[in-house]
Amino acid sequence: MRAIFDAQRAAFLRAGPPSLEERRADLAKLGDAIGGKVDRLAAAIAADFGNRSHYETEIAEVFPAQSAVRHTRRHLARWMQPRRVSVGLELMPAGARIIYQPVGVVGIISPWNYPFNLAIVPLVAALAAGNRVMLKPSELTPRTSDFIAEFLAGLFPLDKVATIVGGPEVGHAFSRLQFDHLLYTGSTAVGRLVMQAAAENLTPVTLELGGKSPCIIGEDAALPSAIESIVYGKLLNAGQTCIAPDYVLLPEQRLDEFIGLVVGTVQKFYPTLAANPDYTSIVNDRHYGRIAKYLAEAKASGTRIIEINPGHEELAPRTRKLPPTLVIEPDENLSVMREEIFGPVLPVKTYRRFDEAIDYVNQHPRPLALYYFGGDPDKRDAVLRKTVSGGASVNATLFHFAAENLPFGGIGASGIGAYHGEFGFQTFSHRKGVFLQSRFSGTRLLHPPFGRITDLMLRVLRRG
Ligand code: NAD
Repeated sequence: MRAIFDAQRAAFLRAGPPSLEERRADLAKLGDAIGGKVDRLAAAIAADFGNRSHYETEIAEVFPAQSAVRHTRRHLARWMQPRRVSVGLELMPAGARIIYQPVGVVGIISPWNYPFNLAIVPLVAALAAGNRVMLKPSELTPRTSDFIAEFLAGLFPLDKVATIVGGPEVGHAFSRLQFDHLLYTGSTAVGRLVMQAAAENLTPVTLELGGKSPCIIGEDAALPSAIESIVYGKLLNAGQTCIAPDYVLLPEQRLDEFIGLVVGTVQKFYPTLAANPDYTSIVNDRHYGRIAKYLAEAKASGTRIIEINPGHEELAPRTRKLPPTLVIEPDENLSVMREEIFGPVLPVKTYRRFDEAIDYVNQHPRPLALYYFGGDPDKRDAVLRKTVSGGASVNATLFHFAAENLPFGGIGASGIGAYHGEFGFQTFSHRKGVFLQSRFSGTRLLHPPFGRITDLMLRVLRRG
């Protein structure tokens, strides 16, 4: 690991920043290669999960990676342009530029839930910015991590892009390398450890973390379409999505209507679960057991639980398929309301006054995503203004992730920094401020020996 890091650093210093053409060629190579490997990738992810819908892999792994490549190739020339900025009257007629430089060697640590997307999309941004990259994918999806390692090794020399596979000890050693930037995607708890390790080297970090993303349903929301979006966002990848709606806040009088529509929508989307290739499994026994425990705890407390199993099938634990489940009005002390769920379980809380919903969100750690459903623009603006979340979608779930021109990232417990599109390019670039003195410059009037001229200049400067 150390040797690869040294080789990347040496290669970076030797070759200097890559040209626009080289970066575009690298990205084209990557984008083209993805297209030829979709089936192998889908098979690796499916084998890691037990069952992972082929369509989900296309929609949520392949498409975002290819879209990032396309968007970046199209706009990279403009992003790389130095930006002219004014120096202000006092320093005229000098000039100033902001120059975007690659930072050097970048580390990327990625999680298991979208193991290709969350490795490749940051890689695209880091390469676009002209860096060398070391990637540490998750040990929980080992076949996919091996696939990624082989895939990238076939495209790039190790001193440009290298994949290091391994578990937490490898991850810890990885996070201690003297990277020029480290992007970590995963849980908040491990994010803390990564930031501590990076702090030793003063390595700047981008942390893409998790948490409980609320979904607020307004009094005037069109429920049928809202529920289609919510069920889609919750059950994609069986809820193992960092920006899945974690829980719903709903007007009290609409609870029965809500439950009926959720049951109907699940039936429509997934008429069966057990052998349905569209319905994804929980990634491993530990996570399956964790979610099952949340439900057992809620049941034991007497909370109303609605399990939606449209085909009334037996779901053997070894398939790790958990049925979509609603938890109605859970107590705040239950794990479903304290922990990020990361599974097909949706707690539903009701409110009487709209402000209660906003207050509830604000009494909890700042979420990665927030969803609002409703037609009233004033209410929508109130939610967006009064709550602080990494990102938000209105009358939809998940899709702010897919819009290349939006920054994607968290705030507070849900993360630090952002990427996607130009924001990714900037995350992995150093913004160097450069002052360009002109031949005729007034700044010499501030040189010593100080005296009458300096006093005159200071009087001018003070007036501004
Ligand atoms: P995780 O924290 O267990 O693992 C993520 C990565 O960190 C893996 O590659 C792992 O090997 C590595 N790692 C583990 N211990 C480490 C250590 N001590 N030092 C350095 N690296 C270490 O997370 P996970 O379970 O794989 O992912 C699920 C979490 O990630 C959820 O909370 C989810 O919300 C969040 N997530 C966030 C985003 C986002 O974009 N913000 C995306 C996906 C997932």
